[in-house]
Amino acid sequence: MAKINQNYSKLPKTYLFSEIAKRSKAFADKNPGVELLKLGIGNTTLPLTATAIEGLSRGVQKLADVKTYSGYGDEQGSTSLRETIVGWYENQGIEFDASEIFISDGAKSDSANITSIFSDDCVVAITDPVYPVYHDSNILAGRKFVLMDCLEENGFIPKVPEGKVDVIFLCSPNNPTGAVATKAQLKEFVDYALVNKAVIIFDGAYSEYISDSELPKSIYEIPDAKACAIEIQSLSKMAGFTGVRLGWTVVPKDLVAEGTENGDVNGLWNRRQTTMFNGASNIVQEGGIAVLSEQGQKEAAELIAYYMENARTIKKAVSDLGLTVFGGDNAPYIWVKCPGSLTSWEFFDKLLEDCHVISTPGSGFGSKGEGYVRLSAFGQKENIEKAVKSIKNHLKI
Ligand SMILES: *Cc1c(COP(=O)(O)O)cnc(C)c1O
Repeated sequence: MAKINQNYSKLPKTYLFSEIAKRSKAFADKNPGVELLKLGIGNTTLPLTATAIEGLSRGVQKLADVKTYSGYGDEQGSTSLRETIVGWYENQGIEFDASEIFISDGAKSDSANITSIFSDDCVVAITDPVYPVYHDSNILAGRKFVLMDCLEENGFIPKVPEGKVDVIFLCSPNNPTGAVATKAQLKEFVDYALVNKAVIIFDGAYSEYISDSELPKSIYEIPDAKACAIEIQSLSKMAGFTGVRLGWTVVPKDLVAEGTENGDVNGLWNRRQTTMFNGASNIVQEGGIAVLSEQGQKEAAELIAYYMENARTIKKAVSDLGLTVFGGDNAPYIWVKCPGSLTSWEFFDKLLEDCHVISTPGSGFGSKGEGYVRLSAFGQKENIEKAVKSIKNHLKI
């Protein structure tokens, strides 16, 4: 008889977003005609820019002609996109060879799949609160965890683990807290990893939301990070590719794990991808080349500026009410401390009932998220302004 993977029963219930939907619906049913104002979702809402559309169209057009048609491409991604990404890093003063870049259909799947190249008895460090996939993918592999608390006292950037761990997940700018690690803070992790022969999986999906030039956009801005860090990137939040699907993972040749030589880990990921993945869509990869062009990046910056204007609007309004707020300066998330001694769900209910605003309870991202809610700037300006006005006029604290 087929036996199922019992680790699935150890996954936390996917309670957060279904519970939000349930409570929102119950409120809407009781209050017909009331408009719900969404500050909950971490999903993009603006259309793709002209250059992205041109790139995608070019990808479609190539398929219409026998001279330019292509079928399966390289599992690692098209050479021209990988070289474009090398150029994108070069502009930040970071050098790679195209063979160190692997194109994917997004960061979420890569951040789960990458752990398959490590032994199941590795101990994994994740933050609390956390982007759930880092936790859940390792639960499925049966791995043990160390939690790194992200608290107000440490500005929501954790200290390095006290004991020895093998794999460390970091996400900066952070979802859900909106916190961004400084170079000094990332250096502590790199130093820890080098001493303990640990590997850092660095999720940089929100790097382009950083406007403070002192803050690092890539872990590779830290000297020697190539020896211990894998970086995962995505066009989802950079260019509105949430539905289009494109990302990449950098596995430097210098990266070593226990008992491996330079290039071995890169070779393992290459083997994993060529075995289990048949490449990202050729159409979408054309779109990616366009997004990463000079003009594409200029337009992406405009999209990001629009969302960050929303973030400022939300942050200002909520702090003007006297609430304690974090994030929202170099990240599209605002992390709001619940007033009084309200729990995340109590404040969620209050925002819903008093203001008709939907938030995301921080406790859904881990126990240290309790006492916070996350507000997202990924809405249309008019809706954000409505939500903020409603909070200002109706929140009773
Ligand atoms: C949205 C998001 C991503 C992007 O994932 P894709 O699969 O590329 O869409 C990655 N990491 C974090 C933390 C995110 O919030």
